[in-house]
Amino acid sequence: MQRRELLKFFSLFPMAGSAALVPWATANAAPVPPAEKRNLFKELGVRTFINAAGTFTAMTGSLMHDYVVDAIQHGATEFCMLDELQDKVGEKIAALVHSEAAVVTSGAFSGMTLGLAGILTGMDQRKIEQLPHLEGTGMKSEVIIQKAHDIVYNHALKNTGCKIIYVETAAEVEQAINEKTALLHFLNIEADKGKIQHEEWVALGRKHNIPTAIDIAADVPPVSNLWKFNDMGFSFVVISGGKAMRGPQSAGLLMGKKEIIAAARQHMPPRGFNIGRGFKVNKEEILGMYVALEKYIQQDHNKEWKAWESATAQIDAAAKTVSGVTTSITVPTLGNVTPTLHIAWDAAKVNLTGKALQEKLRSGNPSIEIGGVKENSITVTVWMLKPGQSTIVAGRIKEELMKAVGA
Ligand SMILES: *Cc1c(COP(=O)(O)O)cnc(C)c1O
Repeated sequence: MQRRELLKFFSLFPMAGSAALVPWATANAAPVPPAEKRNLFKELGVRTFINAAGTFTAMTGSLMHDYVVDAIQHGATEFCMLDELQDKVGEKIAALVHSEAAVVTSGAFSGMTLGLAGILTGMDQRKIEQLPHLEGTGMKSEVIIQKAHDIVYNHALKNTGCKIIYVETAAEVEQAINEKTALLHFLNIEADKGKIQHEEWVALGRKHNIPTAIDIAADVPPVSNLWKFNDMGFSFVVISGGKAMRGPQSAGLLMGKKEIIAAARQHMPPRGFNIGRGFKVNKEEILGMYVALEKYIQQDHNKEWKAWESATAQIDAAAKTVSGVTTSITVPTLGNVTPTLHIAWDAAKVNLTGKALQEKLRSGNPSIEIGGVKENSITVTVWMLKPGQSTIVAGRIKEELMKAVGA
């Protein structure tokens, strides 16, 4: 057919361009195997493993629930306006977590940077473009944190250009507060190590008219933590999406006061000229995070807890049968609140180091990762196991411990 005739043909039969109707349209294309038939990990030679360690970024966090994957796949089929999606999802999320507003971020860390950036600049475009350079701009430049809350992730706050002022007592907070103070930041996972508790922190902020923030990245369960700190009056709250909620590992939530969230979004894509342009979340993660949160709130938490307890008990029972091995099960009070099995052994009876056991489990088939490796002990958590994997973990740990008895 001539080009002119072809155009006419297609205008009469608009569907004719699809491969199904016109086989020759794809006749020359090399066949592409469907993605689900490829084992990319195998192809690439990347080791996969049973995760009996926990939610670690280095181990790719958690496995997304099926409904999260469905939301991501669905999201990938359509275009939409990024801001409109964040607006609508943000409203739904805010209602679920009792905050005035919310936005899906690329994790708790970016939520901290964005929340503080929003406080520093408000909606002022010139200030937004100036970050992280604060000197001579009239913007505030200090964040107050308790010494006991000093962890690596606070670097998220320094990304704005702010400097951290460390304090221990309420009196020191009052002394440290000055016209440059932008934020009083709190870290939930170390709350028990600090001298000032949540309510007092929020009250100090209120008294001096300074916003307060809290990092609860790893603090569900309990599910009530999703709204507890919003109800308490923190100006913004950040949490990870890819830990216990099993949403996208590259997503999290920034929840808080309307003006802070609106200003934080000025530092996010689709806008550039800001410090947050690299913290991109697209529609897939936004939808995945929304569904993860919604389902997490609805799920039967008692049932999940019981399943964790019984899988832990199974591994515990297997390990304990080995002579010289002692075990205990604890539940952290703050952060990663899940049954944690400690397996320890008498080195005189079981000739093995924690590191050697880790290596043996790692190099076995299937490969298994455990946590808390010490001289003569390890820890195991079951919340990242797939159904049935606790039997494999129990068997392998027992097997390796037995081999080392009297060795
Ligand atoms: C995991 C974690 C972070 C980082 O969260 P991301 O969602 O990975 O950005 C920050 N703070 C604490 C206490 C964490 O446990």
